[in-house]
Amino acid sequence: MTEPCLKVSDLHVMYDLGSNGFGKRKRLHAVNGASFEIAAGETLGLVGESGSGKSTIGLSIMRLIEPWSGKVTLGGTDVTGVGRKDVRTLRRRMQMVFQDPYSSLNPSMTVEQLLEEPLIIHRDLPKAERSAMVGQMLESVGLHAGYAVRYPHEFSGGQRQRIAIARAMILHPELVVLDEPVSALDVSTQSQILNLLKAIQAGSGTAFLLVAHDLAVVRLMSPNVAVMYLGEIVEAGPSGRVYDAPAHPYTAALISAVPFPDPERQRTATRIILKGDLPSPLNPPSGCRFRTRCPFAMEICAKETPPAVPVEGGGTAACHLHAHGPKLAGRSLMPFIKERLAGG
Ligand code: SF4
Repeated sequence: MTEPCLKVSDLHVMYDLGSNGFGKRKRLHAVNGASFEIAAGETLGLVGESGSGKSTIGLSIMRLIEPWSGKVTLGGTDVTGVGRKDVRTLRRRMQMVFQDPYSSLNPSMTVEQLLEEPLIIHRDLPKAERSAMVGQMLESVGLHAGYAVRYPHEFSGGQRQRIAIARAMILHPELVVLDEPVSALDVSTQSQILNLLKAIQAGSGTAFLLVAHDLAVVRLMSPNVAVMYLGEIVEAGPSGRVYDAPAHPYTAALISAVPFPDPERQRTATRIILKGDLPSPLNPPSGCRFRTRCPFAMEICAKETPPAVPVEGGGTAACHLHAHGPKLAGRSLMPFIKERLAGG
């Protein structure tokens, strides 16, 4: 079997918030046992509300946040087990693009300096060769090579994100973590950047972990998706199956909130309204973490954490409805939801 580009196994991330005043440590469990894989050249979309832990996963894969436990491997190399010095070497193989192109580029550096920096750190190349690579890289992201002498403030938001992508790609990494790469951009610029990312991936074979809250962006970019709620992956699988036949109530609610362009379809669409706000990750609900907002919660949901069960059409869902109650046994939740809503 081929080694996946990225393998994340039972990843836990905790933030130590200090003592609670009685000598006990207060800890926020931001990621609770996340596991997934990404094949070379593929994209996995990680979706969820803000505070679901999706960005924390990206940052801990990069070791910008230290995982509490679990294992991350990149092309078979243990990322979590290496010392700080070796992490620096690994950064040559994995890069990150951040949400805000306004703050992720050092304003005092020219574009040439920004793109050259990873080459200086990781590759021993003569200046002329570095400059040529910078020019080529700029052109490959749709910018003129002559822009290398300019500073970030001289560019629009979309152009800055192109520069950030060029900087991430200049070392030909195996993996790029894209953390909300288009959410700070206007809609028409968003689609240009998404098309650019697709073209770059087709040409380079780089794997992407796309962290996003926008389901439409993830569907467009990712053949596979994982849905996070309060630090846990509640559903995962091929995007087509997850979007058309969700098997977890939270996924179904997220998808039902996406508006249809067709007004008639919008009028007749099944909507699932979630009650309440996202609970505090400092004090998550017992059993299923989604139970305080789930319209289908049962007694068992407060007592037992639902195991992830295989779903028809691929992937998994962690919900007791598949073994208890209506016994969905890995089938889509939608017929059950429609029946429930029609029957009251
Ligand atoms: Fe809802 Fe229970 Fe399923 Fe959680 S396990 S999503 S509370 S039905």
